Amino acid sequence: MSNKTFLSGLISCFFSSPVGIFLFGQKAINSAEPRSACDTSGSMSSETWVNFLYWGKYRNTRCCSLSLFRSMGRVLTEILIWFKWLLLTRRQGSLVRCCFIHCAVLFPAQTSAGPAQLSPSLAGLSLQSQTPEALRVVNLLQERNLLPPGPISPPTPCLPQDLQKINCHPEVFRSTLTSIPQTQSLLNKAKLPLGLLLHPFKDLTQLPVVTSSTIVRCRSCRTYINPFVSFLDQRRWKCNLCYRVNDVPEEFMYNPVSRSYGEPHKRPEVQNATIEFIAPSEYMLRPPQPAVYLFVLDVSHNAVETGYLDVVCQSLLENINSLPGDSRTKIGFITFDSTIHFYNLQEGLSQPQMLIVSDIEDIFLPTPDSLLVNLDECTEMVQDLLKSLPHMFGKTMETQSALGPALQAAFKLLSPTGGRVSVFQTQLPNLGVGSLKSREDPNQRASAKDIQHLSPATDFYKKLALDCSGQQVAVDLFLLSSQYCDLASLGCISRYSAGSVYYYPSYHQQHNPAQVECFQKDLKRYLTRKIGFEAVMRIRCTKGLSIHTFHGNFFVRSTDLLSLPNVNPDAGFAVQMSIEENLVDMQVVSFQAALLYTSSKGERRIRVHTLCLPVVNSLSDIFAGADVQAITGLLASMAVDRSVTASLSDARDAMTNASIDSLTSYRTSVLTIQQPGLLAPACLRLFPLYILALLKQKAFRTGTSTKLDDRVFAMCQLKYQPLAYVMLMIHPALYRVDDLTDEGALNISERTIPQPRVQQLSVEKLSREGAFLMDAGSVIYLWIGRNCNPNFLTQVLGVPSYPAVPQNMVRNTMLPELDTAESQRTRAFIGWLREQRPFFPILHVVRDESPLKASFMQNMIEDRTESALSYYEFLLHIQQQVSK
Ligand SMILES: [Zn+2]
Repeated sequence: MSNKTFLSGLISCFFSSPVGIFLFGQKAINSAEPRSACDTSGSMSSETWVNFLYWGKYRNTRCCSLSLFRSMGRVLTEILIWFKWLLLTRRQGSLVRCCFIHCAVLFPAQTSAGPAQLSPSLAGLSLQSQTPEALRVVNLLQERNLLPPGPISPPTPCLPQDLQKINCHPEVFRSTLTSIPQTQSLLNKAKLPLGLLLHPFKDLTQLPVVTSSTIVRCRSCRTYINPFVSFLDQRRWKCNLCYRVNDVPEEFMYNPVSRSYGEPHKRPEVQNATIEFIAPSEYMLRPPQPAVYLFVLDVSHNAVETGYLDVVCQSLLENINSLPGDSRTKIGFITFDSTIHFYNLQEGLSQPQMLIVSDIEDIFLPTPDSLLVNLDECTEMVQDLLKSLPHMFGKTMETQSALGPALQAAFKLLSPTGGRVSVFQTQLPNLGVGSLKSREDPNQRASAKDIQHLSPATDFYKKLALDCSGQQVAVDLFLLSSQYCDLASLGCISRYSAGSVYYYPSYHQQHNPAQVECFQKDLKRYLTRKIGFEAVMRIRCTKGLSIHTFHGNFFVRSTDLLSLPNVNPDAGFAVQMSIEENLVDMQVVSFQAALLYTSSKGERRIRVHTLCLPVVNSLSDIFAGADVQAITGLLASMAVDRSVTASLSDARDAMTNASIDSLTSYRTSVLTIQQPGLLAPACLRLFPLYILALLKQKAFRTGTSTKLDDRVFAMCQLKYQPLAYVMLMIHPALYRVDDLTDEGALNISERTIPQPRVQQLSVEKLSREGAFLMDAGSVIYLWIGRNCNPNFLTQVLGVPSYPAVPQNMVRNTMLPELDTAESQRTRAFIGWLREQRPFFPILHVVRDESPLKASFMQNMIEDRTESALSYYEFLLHIQQQVSK
């Protein structure tokens, strides 16, 4: 096509279309709040304008009125310049890139958005080099300091700014590739996994909630109306997932926020990518269930010996009024050893009544109506029971554990209502259905070539979990044990019923105060956090894309529907995707996750998240949008599945190959100039490091003695923890903290939070004169060098010398509160790290003689160990494969 035809084509496209060039403005008008790229005087900045030219060319479905543009003269001049410039540059790159460069460079004085406000990949553009920062070539063998100084932010999808502004927050919903390949064959070429990572019920500080008798959804695919649909006119909207044109219902014409009529595009549903609806009655199959909590407690000799009952009962007594619920909330207790004990807590009794069922072969409920009681009416009786429980079994010599029958009893008790079962178990169940035998040989832990017994020994727990799921019952498992408990089998009860698994190895009240502390903190969070009952989550995506293989704890009810008897704010999910039909006519695609649940107050609610991403047709654009953390998180989940279905060595190979294959593809298909070395685009520079970290992670490591339950628990965490916490598990953050300063510090609510630089995980980085903090997600280590700066010892730890550094400061998990600037800075920094997550990481002080030194050192993943390569050796290995 000659330039002339191209130009006339463009012009005729603009002017012949009934929704031509001026129509693109509607989107801009939609977002004409002061925070948008439109300036407040009513004229658009040239950059916004040209963005919409591009945008509108494909999505020219918005309407507008000409009179709204007060500065058309200027705009027209700019369009002419744009055409001229386009003719000059269109051969050099994609159209969209040209638009952005043009705006940023030619109209710097007139644009309201500087490069800092552009997406990172675009902000790096300049006329000298058309390579965005994400694609800067990095020779991994030469560049050693790859870690950014602070937290790594996810890449910003390459979308027009106003769309990106309202896009779903990456902490809630993100994709491994922020630019979606146009075809499956292009995706195959990139050798990067395509999938979504979700944290759908995350605690949010701001959540728009809408009450409406009509929830507007696509008539064809049932998508909820969202910011990425298009309005053909005031009365019709086009679905962004299936492209069906739908009518706007009369009620939707009224905007409750602005209290105005006739602006459906300003409704909160169209302004927020995350929103919650209070659902009308058609979203209920039955009246919303009350909050029902059942506690199932191991009271065998082993359990009593650990002292865990005191902590559970004490925590429940402290938080009984904070359990989420309303006046209908019910509670019940079951204890078990070789028999099952029920508790009649009915009002009117003088004290709780224990009912023992010894026939564990055929479990029945002795008094079905009085075992679950209304919490408000029977609080005193419940408190009585909680006060006496820890002593009731103090002298027991019963060593057997009938966990299976106890779970059957719990299922029977909760079947009529649904609810949450919290099971506390301290040993391998050895009586009745579901009993298990030890499958671990401690002598084989380090030497075994492959790891056996990662899959369940029996299907009893899975089957029961599916029954529970059918009755809206979720089972959370707290495993507190000193010995092998076969978590691979027991964990199924939570996995398929959408529960959570907590694990406290070597739990003991006296011998392991750190675990006790951790258990107490976790319990408090567990008992008081938000909970959703009888939930389902459906994930939809634009026609052409299809989802498969979910990761997390749930039961897949149909292809895109997950059954979640309970949903909690700390659960993450992942899903793999493929491209079934080519996305050639599409500039963007959308994904929508809708979580329908019953709140603890008995309201039926729907939380909807919608994510919009651009479609690209070149490999370099796919690489430029790669989200290395999301890719690592998804690969970790996939590798867990692979370990169970194939073998651990298979999974390890697959992870290594993932980095080799993608870097090979980058080298052969994206790089135009071949250079020596191991080359990666800047956005994937951490990929080999993260893969090596995964290979050294408890879940996948070999050659190091790892208890089977520890390994299985790490696998569970990789599958159901939200990405942010998974990343700290895989690659902890290391900081030097003996020389904290206020330089570059954050200021949050009048607190100064120092921001030390993140260090590489290598012993090389440690200095005997320093003190280093390692944040590994659920645990924080403070390593003190032997010749640590005495100022730090006295001003922060409050000790005169290194030998006086306490081995264990976990009794109160806090550093001493000293009135010194150093102490304040250190505590502010640790406090800030803790605030970033819903659970409470325990702080361990580590010195040379500490038993925990080994755990700390095992996280130094860049170093060589007897059984694993150093980072540099690993890079050489990859380079060899890439160059083949
Ligand atoms: Zn639709």
